Amino acid sequence: MKITPRKNEVAAVVQLLESDGYDSAEALAKDVIKRVAELFADREFYAFVHRFGPGQLQIAWGPFTSDAEVVKFANKAKLGGEAMSLKLCSTGAFLARLGKNQIAPSERCATCNHPHGAHEHPTFGGRCAVRGCACKQDVK
Ligand SMILES: [Zn+2]
Ligand SMILES: [Zn+2]
Repeated sequence: MKITPRKNEVAAVVQLLESDGYDSAEALAKDVIKRVAELFADREFYAFVHRFGPGQLQIAWGPFTSDAEVVKFANKAKLGGEAMSLKLCSTGAFLARLGKNQIAPSERCATCNHPHGAHEHPTFGGRCAVRGCACKQDVK
């Protein structure tokens, strides 16, 4: 997984590293890992989904940070069968929408009519992840 740290993520970790509230490096490290996991919930990731054929067990690997990274992995894996790249939408964005507006998961974006869950976190622009959709705003 190739991560390019975002400004808000760096700031959140720096805040922990510069705090005086830790007696041990272990305790600080645990909180850093937990905080990074929370921050990553606001991102979208990708999974490489594979099966050898219809009716076969599906197995997925990930997360990856881009579709291109999935393709690169798939080319290395050379599994044959059927495979696809699956976008993993942000659970943080989904929960933020629920918390703010009590929007039912089935409600759709007023701009493009795709589910709210298909849009990235508003902090990062709120663009719709549906392939070919030009919607740049998750309208509530
Ligand atoms: Zn939309
Ligand atoms: Zn859309």
